[in-house]
Amino acid sequence: MKSTFTPPFCPVPDCPEHTPNPYKHRNWWILRGFYFSRTHGYVQRYLCKTCGKSFTERIFHLDYYAKRIDIDLKDLLFHYCNGFSQRALAEHFGCTTRTIAHKLQILSRQSMAAITESNRCIHTLEDIAIDGMQNFTGSQYQPNNYTIAVGQYSQYVGMVTQVIFRRAGRMNAFQKRRRAYFDSIGLWKRGAFTNSIRELVDHIVQVVENRSQDKLSIVCNSDDKRLYAQQLCRNKKIAKMMASSRFVHSITSSRCWRDMKNPLFPVNYIDARLRNDLADWQRETTSFPREANRNFQRFLCYLAYHNFFKPYRVRKPDKNHAEAAGLPHIDSERIKDAFFNRRAFRTKTTLSPQWEDCWFCRLVTPLQVRDRIPFNGNRKPAYLYF
Ligand SMILES: [Zn+2]
Repeated sequence: MKSTFTPPFCPVPDCPEHTPNPYKHRNWWILRGFYFSRTHGYVQRYLCKTCGKSFTERIFHLDYYAKRIDIDLKDLLFHYCNGFSQRALAEHFGCTTRTIAHKLQILSRQSMAAITESNRCIHTLEDIAIDGMQNFTGSQYQPNNYTIAVGQYSQYVGMVTQVIFRRAGRMNAFQKRRRAYFDSIGLWKRGAFTNSIRELVDHIVQVVENRSQDKLSIVCNSDDKRLYAQQLCRNKKIAKMMASSRFVHSITSSRCWRDMKNPLFPVNYIDARLRNDLADWQRETTSFPREANRNFQRFLCYLAYHNFFKPYRVRKPDKNHAEAAGLPHIDSERIKDAFFNRRAFRTKTTLSPQWEDCWFCRLVTPLQVRDRIPFNGNRKPAYLYF
């Protein structure tokens, strides 16, 4: 039984054959026997001649190690991004909610790789808008804020950062006492909000530096939240560009009428879509998110669906949001093709700090005092580090 598969690179991160190398000698691997699995039948094993480690074809697929290979990930993503809760998905596919959560976790890593790759390929010709979306994780005492950067005309979401903070606003005496208790037991971090905005600003710098040559100056629209202006000014590159008016920060009050003429239309649009499309973002929902990593991962899945798989407008079904933002059609097809077929490797993707934390499930849910790790089992799988 001869397999037609050719290993693209050696999966071992420290191996010289892992990185693309034009001088890579062609026969860096040899065939090394088979093993039999009940899900895939006979699987060819390969041996890397350079590092001496062996691997199989399966490691390059999304369903590596998976037993439930009958769950169509395309179908799963589509249903999740159109209002199915995880419980409903579990019933639809005839599996447990844990399987669904794990599959979505795999898709979130694909999403991170896809969005990073498309950000690299887009030389933008449009302005951007930034805004925060608020929801809560587990309880109303730990509200979260997802800050997103959206293309002004394309509604392409290039970046999201998250923060979980203490409950604020009006509370009665009982709620105040309860918050004081949570303050004492929770793993709250000082300056977490500022950090999340700073990371978003770092992304904006990348967008501005990577912009098309025909785009002389970029306008960044936001609401009147003081932290945005503060962090934009604190970034040296942005401050320099502001001085030469190549970058303009335009503030619109969030009380302005929300229609298409509003400069914050793109973020308002995304907010409306989220509340409509995702079960965990609906008002008064019982399927609210319980855990920070999983929540962020599911959000990333939605962003990939929104950017690459959803039509830009109902009447323009051939174009997606990423293409509207200036991603060449060839690159879009390549990213879409890789999304469900080629597994994203951590070492092949350059991630922002928070996305990396999300990849390895290191985001902290402050009130989750019990050590509940969001993996199947309590051990981090070794393949995560590839
Ligand atoms: Zn090797």
